[in-house]
Amino acid sequence: MLIIPSCIPPHKLPGKLASGEDRLNMCRLAFEDERFEVSSIELDRGSKSYTVETLRELKKIYPEDELYFIIGSDMLATLTGWYLWEEILELAYICAASRENGFVPDLSVFTDEQKERIILLDVEPFEVSSTEIRVIIARGEQSPALISPKVADYIRENSLYDDGLSDYRKLLSEKLDDYRMHHSECVSECAAVLAEKYGADVEKARLAGLLHDVTKNTSKSDQLEIIERSGEPLSRVEIINPKVWHQISGAAFLKESGMITDEEILSAVRWHTTGRADMTLLEKIVYVADFISADRDYPDVNVVRRLAEKSLEDAILYTSRYTVLKLASSDLPIHPATVECYNDMLFKLKNRKDNVL
Ligand code: FE
Ligand code: FE
Repeated sequence: MLIIPSCIPPHKLPGKLASGEDRLNMCRLAFEDERFEVSSIELDRGSKSYTVETLRELKKIYPEDELYFIIGSDMLATLTGWYLWEEILELAYICAASRENGFVPDLSVFTDEQKERIILLDVEPFEVSSTEIRVIIARGEQSPALISPKVADYIRENSLYDDGLSDYRKLLSEKLDDYRMHHSECVSECAAVLAEKYGADVEKARLAGLLHDVTKNTSKSDQLEIIERSGEPLSRVEIINPKVWHQISGAAFLKESGMITDEEILSAVRWHTTGRADMTLLEKIVYVADFISADRDYPDVNVVRRLAEKSLEDAILYTSRYTVLKLASSDLPIHPATVECYNDMLFKLKNRKDNVL
């Protein structure tokens, strides 16, 4: 079995990727068993790693052999978007291993002949995300079930995936429980990806996402004190709705403690729960990231994720409408900023459509 780290994966956003050499070394440490061979074929070729080119090369090296290409079932769903995907199926059998329980890939796009080249591997799915692993590493913890100790040591010794936020993490871990800490890491990661996609400052987005819920586990009385010291009075709707306090107390705490002086980050935290009209790009990113981060699993989450792929505004319109409807149907008060956010997105969308017409 060949393990092939890619040079530049065509389907991944550029971002925090360890260098090719480091990834090759980590593969070697992780696959020491002699049944595996770590191949630098894609790294040696350089540039974007198209699977079809790798398979062509392998076919030349092993002309007599049948090739089986193992991917995650989530990647199978995107196969028809790959460069020369039809040739890929001619060169190799595709073996898809399920990444999550109950996932059934849609094969209707393939011809009968192509379907015969696709093998769904009947293996127990192993649900794990790279974000989860980075969190474990950032905390200096070991988890032999998820990452081999040798690889973990390598990552630490070479300071891979170090995003310079460890001081913030240390403070956060004193204020947040494990569940909220994990959520914050996921929002941070997601905000960075969105920032990359929509042209915002990636580092600011990463930090704002990480800190957005900083006072979520702070007691109500402590939050009220922080808010009072900030001099910003709570409105009537806010007083009876403690769920929105943490966006106000969070921003106030970050400012008061001197941890954050950047106004853009402060306002992204300040409005992440309710949203508002005329949101800045960073506010939109943190607001959306909070809804679609990897840890979220409410029923419509994939709908919102798809919307966010196309437009932040569409995603915000959907989520603010959802929030308004949910609150109203439970006889709960709706924060005026949420209503203004919803209206704003609706008008902007309408304008966009009118312009098209
Ligand atoms: Fe929050
Ligand atoms: Fe949150």
